[in-house]
Amino acid sequence: VLKVRELCKSFGPTKVLNGVSFRMTEGEVISLVGSSGSGKSTALRCVNFLETPTSGEIEVMGDAVSAAVNHHGKTEIHSAHHIRNFRRRIGMVFQNFNLWPHQTALGNVTLALLHVLGKNKRDAKEIALSALAKVGMADFRDRYPHQLSGGQQQRVAIARVLAMSPKIMLFDEPTSALDPELVGEVLRVIRGLADEGATILLVTHEMRFARDVSNRMIFLHKGEIEQDGTPEELLRNPASDAVARFLSSVM
Ligand code: ATP
Ligand code: MG
Repeated sequence: VLKVRELCKSFGPTKVLNGVSFRMTEGEVISLVGSSGSGKSTALRCVNFLETPTSGEIEVMGDAVSAAVNHHGKTEIHSAHHIRNFRRRIGMVFQNFNLWPHQTALGNVTLALLHVLGKNKRDAKEIALSALAKVGMADFRDRYPHQLSGGQQQRVAIARVLAMSPKIMLFDEPTSALDPELVGEVLRVIRGLADEGATILLVTHEMRFARDVSNRMIFLHKGEIEQDGTPEELLRNPASDAVARFLSSVM
């Protein structure tokens, strides 16, 4: 469902991603790991076009957007479709849930259904309630974000993405802003989605969780993929000292 080819991203003179390529099949769960600053968030943001790649190609379900540097040194984007269409297929959950403060849990999940997907009110409500139920938040539908714990807010944020029925869900450190006792409830929700066959690209510092839930782990180091394999392969046969050191420091 997702192909990333030779993805490069620079901020001014700083190369953050340097030729990252991988593909995901439907139902796969991949965790992107690596030390701070290795480019994990930038890679996710490029996949979702929140960030424009400097060069490279992203293909989602057969539709590709490519970026290439022209002879003036500027990046040009080529796409047969609107990037908007790609965003709908790729849902992203951030570290700081950023819910609308003046909307209830239900309102937060419904808004994009109404305004982005153009659903009518009745359908939007039905879809939203079923998404909230999936993350165990149906009983909290009328609460405002400030009336919810961090873990509950993050579950609403996950429901908001789920409701849009994306083909791929991206998670960027979904539990890192949470108090330790709230991490488990959010990880359980993600595991449930994975068990149901969702296609998930995940950045997390919860390495045990990543190992248990992922089909593959991709280790990024200085903007390049150092290793791509099953969690067992990375643990048993680290491809480099960087991988070995990282895994031994977190596991
Ligand atoms: P962490 O684990 O700390 O979240 P990360 O692997 O997600 O790290 P990124 O956030 O992708 O790393 O950042 C990679 C590098 O790119 C860092 O050196 C960062 O300073 C730089 N960077 C990220 N965003 C920008 C930006 N908008 N402008 C300039 N530099 C940036
Ligand atoms: Mg990051």
